[in-house]
Amino acid sequence: MAEPRASREGYRTRSSENRTPSRRPRRRRRRYSYRLYVMIGVLILLLLLLVFLLSKLFGGGGDKKAAETTMAPESAIETTAAETTAAAIPAPTAAPAAANEWYLILVNKDNPVPEDYQVELTSLRNDQSVDSRIYPDLQAMFDEMRAQGLSPMITSSYRSAEDQQKIMDNKIAEYKEQGYTDEDARELAEEWVAKPGTSEHQLGICIDISSTDSEDSDMKVNVWNWLIDNSYKYGFIQRYPEDKTEITGIINEPWHYRYVGKEAAKEIFDQNITLEEYLGVY
Ligand SMILES: [Zn+2]
Repeated sequence: MAEPRASREGYRTRSSENRTPSRRPRRRRRRYSYRLYVMIGVLILLLLLLVFLLSKLFGGGGDKKAAETTMAPESAIETTAAETTAAAIPAPTAAPAAANEWYLILVNKDNPVPEDYQVELTSLRNDQSVDSRIYPDLQAMFDEMRAQGLSPMITSSYRSAEDQQKIMDNKIAEYKEQGYTDEDARELAEEWVAKPGTSEHQLGICIDISSTDSEDSDMKVNVWNWLIDNSYKYGFIQRYPEDKTEITGIINEPWHYRYVGKEAAKEIFDQNITLEEYLGVY
């Protein structure tokens, strides 16, 4: 009992009696260490500022350059990196850098063709026409197929909203002839035909491809098989593959090819994904 009290009192006395002589050096020491901390703090802040400025100067400029000069999405490269290094880097969800380019526009039942969509067409044989911008790559692809002994033929290409409406009306009429009610006929038709405003064909960058020897189904299949393996080299993708109907919402269409540009087409081909997945919307 006596010991703790004594020490408490002792402390009290010491602090009140010896205030002036004993505190000076301590305070000086403290001030000195404060100054040191402040200096270290300022140095760290300056370093951070320098790093920030350097990253603004070089890092930011680099990103912009990449976005301007390459159509290839950086995020695609990052995806592979993220996959191989497991959870170290979070997988990017951002759309590819070129997502806003005309050749990557997404049109499906949830994303109709923009109302003000304009297209400059190049006429082909058999009353077909395509967006002039895809014409050179399309021509090169057909030249190569012909050089390989195939005889490809375009059976559908650009369609106006009115064209698409006619196709829908015909399909509905077909089902009604079979005895379906108006409502059922419409529902069934919509399983096969895209509603006007939601068909990629209205963009002018899609084509349905068959063979001039269409009676010989082998020739048609040969054309389709060649396209599966090679179309990406010309910027085209098989848009509605058999195993992706859940994602695209469209049944298997081995004849329907869509232009997405060579960079995206290769990425989509290599990764066996759909345009929806490539754009990060699925
Ligand atoms: Zn089609």
